[in-house]
Amino acid sequence: MAKKKKSSPYLAVALTLCVAAVGLAVAIAVLAISETALPPVEESSSQGVTEESDPSADESIEESVEESIAESSAPSAESSEAEISLPEESTEESVPEPEPGLGGEIPQLGSTREYESYIGLRYSVDLVQFEKYIDPENASEYLLLVSPKAPLGKDYVPDDLIYIEDMRAGRPSYYSYLREYAEKALEAFLDEAAMYGHGDIKVSNGYRSYSVQSTLFNNYLADERARHPDWTEERIYALVATYSNPPGTSEHQSGLCVDMHNQIDTNNTFDGTPAAIWLEENCYRFGFVLRYPPDKQDVTGIKYESWHFRYVGRTAATEMHELGMCLEEYLAYKGLN
Ligand SMILES: [Zn+2]
Repeated sequence: MAKKKKSSPYLAVALTLCVAAVGLAVAIAVLAISETALPPVEESSSQGVTEESDPSADESIEESVEESIAESSAPSAESSEAEISLPEESTEESVPEPEPGLGGEIPQLGSTREYESYIGLRYSVDLVQFEKYIDPENASEYLLLVSPKAPLGKDYVPDDLIYIEDMRAGRPSYYSYLREYAEKALEAFLDEAAMYGHGDIKVSNGYRSYSVQSTLFNNYLADERARHPDWTEERIYALVATYSNPPGTSEHQSGLCVDMHNQIDTNNTFDGTPAAIWLEENCYRFGFVLRYPPDKQDVTGIKYESWHFRYVGRTAATEMHELGMCLEEYLAYKGLN
């Protein structure tokens, strides 16, 4: 009996501590839940420009953007994405960063939840109908390299081209197709972008046939000849080749890449806008890469293009993201070229 009487105060203290601990745990859980709320809508980069009335004006956007090549470094601003918070932790460092390049096995097909845990970021869109396109089973098929050093033949035409749903209004129909898997993955990517406040991003160029590229290139040659009547043909060709790909060397012929942006006024650049930064930071989750990053110009041979995204499938895109590699480097790293 004496023992019981003695233990009572200790029991009371222990109970009080338990209640306090539970209270703290609840408070931490509430905090964690509030941090995983839907992504906040970011400010649109609309600069108050008027709706274009001449669809052809858009065609020159690549030129104008290319002419104002920004030497700025890759956008690195942190966007406020919904991070997965572990319930027992309330501090911001709740999700461990994957080891760059050593991240182990990237979860494959049909394991989106595992993938989300792996990268420490959750999808906002429902991926059920898009999963198999974002993370293709026959992934190597989508690693095709097309470049001035690795041109495609005149007859290369993908046999699974479909219409791009998020096409910019007024664009010619011959720019409006993409290979099926890339197009479906793009739909999910742009749905997600819209949930983060970037619903105005549209595609201006998709698949481009050899003959369309040929026409484009020849038009540029004609323009430059008119501008520089005293130049040799070699010099004219070399100049045009710095901003347009000769037929066969444009990645657009693969049907695996798009140009997309949210600019209406062709004098505006896309680079550095909130939408451009968001696309670059999130493309890998949907199987895309920014194909011509500013710090890889010496490897790709192409100037930085903030609007050009290439589909490679999620596993490759995630590895490239982790390794900081462009496609050329990645293929060499994997022994695939
Ligand atoms: Zn492009």
